[in-house]
Amino acid sequence: MKKRYINNLIVFSLLISLLIISLCLLYSCDLSKNQNNQNNTIIENNTNTGDSGNNGSNTDIGDETGNETDNGFIVSYSVDRNVGGKIVGKRSQTINWGDDAETVVAVADEDYIFVGWSDLSFEAARQDKEIERNFEYVAYFQPISKIFRYDYGELYSGSKHGSVTLNRDNLDHVEFDVPQMNGYVFLGWYADKNFRVKITDENGRLMLGFYTFDLDTEVIYARWKQNGMDEKPIYRVLTVFVDEVEAQLQPTYNLDEPYISVSYKMSVIEQRLFALITTGVCDYLNNLFDGEVKFEFDNYYTTRPINENSFESGNNSGLRTYSLQANRINEVQGLLENYRSVMTLFSMNDWDRVLHNVGGSSTAKYGMSHIEEELMGYIINYEPLQDVFNDLKKDRNDIKWLQSLDSYLHEFIHTIEQKYYFDEIYEYHEALDYYLNKGGYGTLDISALYLLNQAEINGKFVGIPKSYWEDGDPHM
Ligand SMILES: [Zn+2]
Repeated sequence: MKKRYINNLIVFSLLISLLIISLCLLYSCDLSKNQNNQNNTIIENNTNTGDSGNNGSNTDIGDETGNETDNGFIVSYSVDRNVGGKIVGKRSQTINWGDDAETVVAVADEDYIFVGWSDLSFEAARQDKEIERNFEYVAYFQPISKIFRYDYGELYSGSKHGSVTLNRDNLDHVEFDVPQMNGYVFLGWYADKNFRVKITDENGRLMLGFYTFDLDTEVIYARWKQNGMDEKPIYRVLTVFVDEVEAQLQPTYNLDEPYISVSYKMSVIEQRLFALITTGVCDYLNNLFDGEVKFEFDNYYTTRPINENSFESGNNSGLRTYSLQANRINEVQGLLENYRSVMTLFSMNDWDRVLHNVGGSSTAKYGMSHIEEELMGYIINYEPLQDVFNDLKKDRNDIKWLQSLDSYLHEFIHTIEQKYYFDEIYEYHEALDYYLNKGGYGTLDISALYLLNQAEINGKFVGIPKSYWEDGDPHM
C-alpha cells in the first residue's frame, strides 16, 4: 500500500518534472550547519513559484479569466456563501479593455462585519481600475459573536453547560467549559466528531482565534482519552498562523535606511487555504507511514498583533531576511512543548521581497514559511485565491496541492533533521541533490523516501532514523 503510494507519486511527478525543477531552486538552501546543532538555521533560497521580475504586469493570463468577450471583460463581485452582507453597486460589470470599473461597497448585515476581499484587500469600498481581464472578487463577512452548543459525548454524565458564546471584541476572555470524567482525560473541544479540527486545548484555551468565526459547525465535541490506555505515541505538529503583524522592520543593514511599517492581517481565504493544506499534509503523512507512525496536526491562529520584537533578522548572501519562529511569539508559549515540530506561517505583505529573500527557514524543531512565497505564483497570475481553494479542496492530485505539500514537507523535514548533529544524519538537501541528479525523482518523492529512511545512497539507506519516531528527540 505504502509502496504503491510512492510509485504513484513518482509517476506523477515525472509528469510534472518541469515544475518540480523550478521548486528545487527554492530549496537549494543556503545551509550553514555547524557542530553546535541547537543553533543551526537553514535558510531557503528564493523563490517558489512565478517570475519575480514580472510582478503585476503583462503576465500569462489563463483563457478562462483572461478572454475579453465581444462586449468587454466581466468583473463581478459576490458575497461568500451569500451570508452576512451584500454588495452595494453593480455586482456584475462589463468593462472595455483598460477602462475602470464602477465603485462597489461591501456592506455587512446587522450582527456581522466585513472581513476582507478574496484578493487580500480589506477596504470595503473598491474601484478596480484599468481592467484587462475577467475577474470575480468575493467579499467575506463574519458574525460578531458566535454560539457553540457543547456535545460532551455519550459516556459523560457530569454537569453540563449548554453553550459557549464567543465575541470578536472579547476573544481573549472567552471561557470554555473544561469537563472532567472519572477514568478519562479531557483532550479539548473539536469542531467535528472525527476530532480533526481542534478548537480548544485540554485547558479550554482557544486555538483558532478569529478563524473560529468561520467554522460551519454550531456544535463542538468533547474529546476524551481513557486512562491507562497504552497507545502508540502520536507525532504532534503545531502550525501557528500569524493573524496580524504590526512591525517596524529595516530592509537592509544600512543604518541610514528608513524602517518600513509592516501591516498585515490574515484574510479569510488565507485562513481557509492553509487550514486545508495542514489537514492535507497530516493525511499525507499518515498515509505514507501507513500506521507505523501516527500524526496529528493542530493549528493555532494568533489573536494579538506580532511586533518587531518577535522577528529575527538573518543574513542570506549579504541580504537581510527576516524570519518569525513560534518560539519568539509570546502568545503561544506554554503550548509549544506539546509538539515535536512547530511550523509558523506568516506574511509581511512583502510582495516585492524587500524584507525577505528566502522561501522559509528552520531552526531545531521550528520551521517557518513566508505566505507571500506560497501565494506569489497565484497572485502574479491573477488567479483568484477562492478558485485555488476550491481546486485544492476538490483534488489532491492537483498540481497546486502538490506544490503546497512539497513546500510544507520540506520545512517540516528540516524541523526533524535540525535536531541531529552534523555527522549523525545524512543531510536532507544532499539527499535531494543526489536524487535530482540521478533523475526520475521529484522533490516530493525524495522527501517521502527521506522521511521513511528509504533513500538509498551509496548502498546505505539514509533519511530520518526510524528510531526517531518512537524514541523521541535526540539530545534532549
Ligand atoms: Zn531547505
